[in-house]
Amino acid sequence: MGSSPQTPRFGIDLGGTNLKLGRIERDVVVQKIEIPTEHDARLCVQQMAEKLKELAADGRLSQVGVGLPGVIDAARSQVLDAPNLPFLAGFPLADELSALCACPVVLENDANVAALGEAHCGAGKNHPNFLFITLGTGVGGGLILNHQLFQGPGGMAGEFGHLTVGHDRQCGCGALGCLEAIASARAMETLAAQCMGQAMPLAEMVEAAGNGNLDALAVFQTAGSCLGEAMAQVGLLLDLRVFLVGGGGHPALKFLEKPARLVLQQRCFGRQAEDFLILPATLGNDAGLLGAAYLEMA
Ligand SMILES: [Zn+2]
Repeated sequence: MGSSPQTPRFGIDLGGTNLKLGRIERDVVVQKIEIPTEHDARLCVQQMAEKLKELAADGRLSQVGVGLPGVIDAARSQVLDAPNLPFLAGFPLADELSALCACPVVLENDANVAALGEAHCGAGKNHPNFLFITLGTGVGGGLILNHQLFQGPGGMAGEFGHLTVGHDRQCGCGALGCLEAIASARAMETLAAQCMGQAMPLAEMVEAAGNGNLDALAVFQTAGSCLGEAMAQVGLLLDLRVFLVGGGGHPALKFLEKPARLVLQQRCFGRQAEDFLILPATLGNDAGLLGAAYLEMA
């Protein structure tokens, strides 16, 4: 991008609830602003521009990256679909923000952005090829190949959550048997409620499993095996061996990893379970800001 490591970068993490903006220097978020997201396209773009100007001490913005939960067009300039930000569908967000800030703006899907953040400054730093997996309300993925984010020609690469893993639960995408329908934080909570007859948040399930609760352990066993099946498919297709797991559901990883590894061992011939690295992502909530700051302009 032609800027030296000293030049501040600016990243935006636009969520359905909160808007986060950060000034990044030397791979660290040195200043951050977090405010409730305005659910109106014009107001939202105005609040972004206003807060960016506050973050740019000298008033100069080199470029801005924005990560958001949605499908972005191939030119990375407008949002095609975003269930949590419906007011942005079809709105030329990049052009509008670019005009207000007088600098280039690039958009990207939030899972891809987090993958890029981990690649530049987190657990993926020493791994040229990996899949970043986010376990949250859904299951998302971001593919890093040769240190670069691989989006695919239409920006839809890395849809890890919708690989089919051999069960018959209905997924929000309309298909049956997607990983997301069994291993997202929400799906694991639903499974637990069905086993135990009472709802239990994922954090409590993790605690219960730690105390030997058989129902919680059974849910993680099922979800972990399915996670391993999806990882095996990625391993077979691309020979990827590094998986970074982030998102709100990542604390369950300690119970998901063992069944996942077992399936990987069974499904990926020519490799051993030890050849695969399943690591927790390390940037937490800052992954979005950091990754957005490192988005490449088209
Ligand atoms: Zn699906």
